[in-house]
Amino acid sequence: MECPKCQTGNLTLSYLELFFCVQTCNGCGGNWVLIEDYVKWKDQHPEYAYIDVDVTEDLDDAVKALLCPSSGLIMRKLKIAKETSHRIDYSASVGGVWLDNGEWQLLKNSGLAGSLNTILTEHWQLKIREQRTEDTFDMLYRTKFGDEDYDKVKVLREWLQSHPQKSDLRAFLLAQDPYSVKR
Ligand SMILES: [Zn+2]
Repeated sequence: MECPKCQTGNLTLSYLELFFCVQTCNGCGGNWVLIEDYVKWKDQHPEYAYIDVDVTEDLDDAVKALLCPSSGLIMRKLKIAKETSHRIDYSASVGGVWLDNGEWQLLKNSGLAGSLNTILTEHWQLKIREQRTEDTFDMLYRTKFGDEDYDKVKVLREWLQSHPQKSDLRAFLLAQDPYSVKR
């Protein structure tokens, strides 16, 4: 597998810890970690406790997003604690994480090594909740307006939202009679 980070090195089998199997880049030293391998290791190491962390998605950094070495799909950049600059690249499609060279050590030093799977689980649940909310609204509008009108108004809305004269157009659209001097 080609390295998603430096794109010149190759990923080869190695061990991040005893019995913690990963793929390490022979160019930049970054590590490709499958969550299942992490969980196997963690089960043997209860001393790496889970601590509560604040997970947010770093959308500003989308340009620098890496592609998953396994699926080729975009990976999400997750910011895992406010007080550090940790970012981990998460491939939800494969269940893998990219850790830059030295990042595992940083996670261990900040006591976050035991929280990796929970971080990903939380992010995953957050996405599911958002998706559910969106689906719920969609269903509510569809029921309220009926299929035909809902599809029509969605197209109109999208056009209006991105239009530079949207407030004037909206006023025109909603005016009782835009050709009359009376209001
Ligand atoms: Zn590399």
